[in-house]
Amino acid sequence: MPSGAPTLFLSDLHLSPERPEALRAFHAFAAGPAREAAAVYLLGDVFDWWVGDDQMREPFVARIVESLRGIADAGVPLYIAHGNRDFLMGPRLAAAAGATLVPEYVVLDLHGIRTVLCHGDSLCTDDVDYQAYRARMRNPAMQARLLRLPYFLRRIIARWLQRKSRDMKALKPESIMDVAPDTVAATFRRHDAQRMIHGHTHRPARHEVDVDGARRERYVLADWHDRGRYLAVDEGGANEREIVPQRRP
Ligand code: MN
Repeated sequence: MPSGAPTLFLSDLHLSPERPEALRAFHAFAAGPAREAAAVYLLGDVFDWWVGDDQMREPFVARIVESLRGIADAGVPLYIAHGNRDFLMGPRLAAAAGATLVPEYVVLDLHGIRTVLCHGDSLCTDDVDYQAYRARMRNPAMQARLLRLPYFLRRIIARWLQRKSRDMKALKPESIMDVAPDTVAATFRRHDAQRMIHGHTHRPARHEVDVDGARRERYVLADWHDRGRYLAVDEGGANEREIVPQRRP
């Protein structure tokens, strides 16, 4: 891998057969910039739904896993964090993709900047209903119970949860679905970090925050639609980049 190669961060691709443009952007990303990177971090909600690793039977998933494998086979370390949609991603997927599943918070030294990574839903603590749902779904006993259900039933539950989450979002004020400033400050403190990178809110931005008199920065990753968007971090700093796939004729 070339020296000075950037580390790439992306999240909220929400890949599904219903989003062919995001899928094309992902395959272009995996075949291109990802293979030149120092490392690639997928920070959750890569998949719009994940009902268990037996989902790799779906042809669109098999192709995604193949693309992920291509990144790993190019010698690029590949890390995947859980999102709120794909919290059931497990070791079989990781093994097939050549990826490492990471814990909820990851702290790394990136060119001298202590950086904390997470999906971002844990920062939205003003949304009390969502946090209660999250705690239930992150419970290992609950997950084991879910995974024992037949595939078709899990698929139906996932669709139902998606509809419910859409309906709930429509009812909630915008502000409670964003990160809570106190929780952001507490997260910076807990991990003694200067920079935070997360997704989830679909509000891509760079924020400067003052925590205990020190200036920190928080990057919010973009969700994917007709194009891919990711953050590239190297010695020079952090830059947002786009990948626009070739349209099929
Ligand atoms: Mn999310």
